[in-house]
Amino acid sequence: MQITIPPYPIDEDHAPLLLDITLAETSRAADIAEGDVILGAVDEQGRVDYFNDYYRAAPMPYDPTCGCGVCYLAANDEGPVVNLGNDNPWDTCDPHHADARLVIIRAAHLA
Ligand SMILES: [Zn+2]
Repeated sequence: MQITIPPYPIDEDHAPLLLDITLAETSRAADIAEGDVILGAVDEQGRVDYFNDYYRAAPMPYDPTCGCGVCYLAANDEGPVVNLGNDNPWDTCDPHHADARLVIIRAAHLA
């Protein structure tokens, strides 16, 4: 699937992006590493949905019984779920299907 990464929105719903959007790429959730910046998700039609805030991945084990209020939502998902951490503006875990595609900037691009 061809995925076009659109311009980052400049509006009051989205945190100002202090990073270069041209560095962004898509990645399987399972291939996201510590320190990668997560900007948004790609839906099944290949459209990018930017999150209201962006945050750095801090992958940790997925525990469907963790109690953060989000992990249980993924408990019945088919296939492996990865947890990209809870160091984000929402203070909850961030479970995604391992094959979900997210828009990220790799930590290696960020000095
Ligand atoms: Zn959790």
